[in-house]
Amino acid sequence: MAKEVLDCSFCGRKKPETNLLIAGINAHICDKCIEQAHGIVLEELKTNGKSKLVADLILKKPQEIRAFLDQYVIGQDQTKKVMAVAVYNHYKRLMQQQLNDDVDIEKSNIIMVGQTGTGKTLVAKTIARMLDVPLAIVDATVLTEAGYVGEDVESILTRLLQAADYDVHKAERGIVFIDEIDKIARKSDNPSITRDVSGEGVQQALLKLLEGTVVNVPPKGGRKHPDQKFVEVNTKDILFIAGGAFDGIERIISKRLNRQAVGYSTSKNVDNIDKDNLLQYIIPKDIKDFGLIPEIIGRLPVLTHMDPLDRETLRAILTEPKNALIKQYQKLFAMDDVDFTITDDALDFIVDKALEYKLGARGLRSLCEAILTDAMYELPSSDEKMLLIDKNYTEDTLNKSLLKRLEIAS
Ligand code: ADP
Repeated sequence: MAKEVLDCSFCGRKKPETNLLIAGINAHICDKCIEQAHGIVLEELKTNGKSKLVADLILKKPQEIRAFLDQYVIGQDQTKKVMAVAVYNHYKRLMQQQLNDDVDIEKSNIIMVGQTGTGKTLVAKTIARMLDVPLAIVDATVLTEAGYVGEDVESILTRLLQAADYDVHKAERGIVFIDEIDKIARKSDNPSITRDVSGEGVQQALLKLLEGTVVNVPPKGGRKHPDQKFVEVNTKDILFIAGGAFDGIERIISKRLNRQAVGYSTSKNVDNIDKDNLLQYIIPKDIKDFGLIPEIIGRLPVLTHMDPLDRETLRAILTEPKNALIKQYQKLFAMDDVDFTITDDALDFIVDKALEYKLGARGLRSLCEAILTDAMYELPSSDEKMLLIDKNYTEDTLNKSLLKRLEIAS
C-alpha cells in the first residue's frame, strides 16, 4: 500500500516541499503558511493596536498598580500611590481622546525628587514592565541645545523608538524617564559656558516635548548618520517621568518652612517637622527656587519625593522584592545545584556596612559580590552542594576585600 503523503491544509504543498509541517487535530500547516498567517496577525494588531493597547492598560486600577509596585519596590509609599494615580489618569486620558468629548484631560507627567539610589529608576522601570510599554531612560546631563557638543533633546525619542523596536505606534504610548533633571537647573550665580548650553536652553527644548508635539526623530540617533530618513513621533501621549536628587534642596525647603512658621506664628508646626526627611515637605516652588524654570515645572505637574533608605528598608531590599538580590544569588547557585543560605545576622551585617559607608541600596550589590565571589568561583568545580554564609564568613571576606579598598579610598 502506497504511503500517504501529507500536505498543508492551507496551501496544499506536499510535505517534501515544506521545511516543516505541523499537525493539528484534523489538518496540517506548513512553515510558509505560518509565516503568512503571522504577518496577517501583526497587521491586524497594528490596525486595532491603538484601542487594544488602551483597553489592556485601563484594566489596571490604581490599587492594582500599587500592588504591582509593592512586589518590586520597598517603602516609598507616597511615590507609589502618587504614581499609581498619575499612571492611571494618564491612560484614562488616552481613553477619553477616543471618546472625543470636549473636556480635555491634561497630561500627568511626573517629577520625583530623591537621593540617588532610592529607587527612582526602579519605579519607572516597574511601571513600564507592568504596562508592557517601551521605556527609555535618558540622562539629562548629556542633553545640550542643538548645535552644541552633546545630544539633542530629540535623542530621547530615538531611544524610545529603539526600545519600541521602531514601532512608532508603541513608542507614542511609551514612558520616558529623564534622570538627573536637577542637573539642567539654571544656576544664576554660576554662569559658565556649559551651563548656558546645557541649562536653561535644554529646559526650553524639553518644554515642547513634555507638552506634546510632533518631532522629526532620527531613528539611528543624531549626528553620526546624517542621511537617514526622519520618523515623525508625536509626544502627546508619552508619559514623562523626571527624576533628580536636587542636592541641597533641603536647605530651600527648610528655609521656607521656617519662614512660614514665623509668618503664621505657629511654632508648634516647626517642632513637628521631621528634619531627617525634609523632602516630604517639598512643593513646586522649592524646585523653582532650585533653578528649574516655571514652565518645566508646570509641565511636570505631579510632584513626589523618595524617602531616604533606612536600615529596615535596606534589609528588606536584600530579601523581599520579587527579584531581590539574595533571591538572584540563590538562583545562580541553584543552577550549579548548590543550595545557598545566608543567616539573618550576616544580612544585618551587610546592611550595617552599607549604612556605615553610605553606599545605599546600590552598595548592597557590591557588598554581596565581594562576599560571594570566592564561593561563585570555587563551587561550580567542586562537589559541594551546600553553601551557608554566616556573619563570621561575611565579616572575614569583607575585611579582606572591599572594605579594605574603601577604607583606603576614603
Ligand atoms: P535612583 O534612580 O533613585 O538613583 P535606582 O532605582 O537606580 O535609584 O536604585 C538602584 C538600585 O537599588 C535598584 O536597582 C534596586 O536594586 C535598589 N533599590 C533602590 N531603592 C529601592 C527600593 N525602594 N526598593 C527596592 N530596591 C531598591
